[in-house]
Amino acid sequence: MIQENIHNFKKKIPENVTLVAVSKTKPIADLQEAFDAGQRIFGENKVQEMVEKYDVLPKDIQWHMIGHLQRNKVKYMAHFVDLIHGVDSVKTLEEINKQAAKHDRVIKCLLQASIADEETKFGLTFDEIRAILKSNEVASMQHIAIVGLMGMATFTEDETQINSEFSSLKSLFDDLKTSHPTLEILSMGMSGDYEIAIKNGSTMIRVGSSIFGHRNYIV
Ligand SMILES: *Cc1c(COP(=O)(O)O)cnc(C)c1O
Repeated sequence: MIQENIHNFKKKIPENVTLVAVSKTKPIADLQEAFDAGQRIFGENKVQEMVEKYDVLPKDIQWHMIGHLQRNKVKYMAHFVDLIHGVDSVKTLEEINKQAAKHDRVIKCLLQASIADEETKFGLTFDEIRAILKSNEVASMQHIAIVGLMGMATFTEDETQINSEFSSLKSLFDDLKTSHPTLEILSMGMSGDYEIAIKNGSTMIRVGSSIFGHRNYIV
């Protein structure tokens, strides 16, 4: 099933859209099955769980941290994490920079924009994103690279609303790219809304349940 789902996704999404297989809460065997189907990018939202999986799975996997990040956990993944999606403060960038330096690495980051109509979703306002990209302090951080933006739409059936939220983030992205050509990733879209996200210019979708099945949260 997982193999089939991976193959189907690869077939139906455009070539310029990267698929992140969101494997949070799923057992190693499920990730291995996705790996055997050719998937190399996995997304997790808890640092400890990601480290445990990193330790036992093949080393050519790219690990993405997609959840809200606690600063004191950055050190546990700084030696291997490929891309951090949910960065929402300069303090977090500072910590990532500091921990990446210890491993002589540059860690790629996405700034998370707040686009949803829900207070539970973290993220920066568009003005805060502009300020971070202009900041000399951030520009001096040698061990991070801000390579794009990430956003989550409101959890709603209202496709018009989802569409307008993704569309607003795409406009910001295009606007910022003219002055910051290093922004290349626009991470938006999950199982329920990736089609709308792709229509709005997403270059990276984060898909969990449509690949691995529903998550069981009784852990
Ligand atoms: C869990 C999660 C996803 C994947 O959600 P699905 O609906 O299962 O595809 C995507 N992005 C983030 C930030 C998540 O936490």
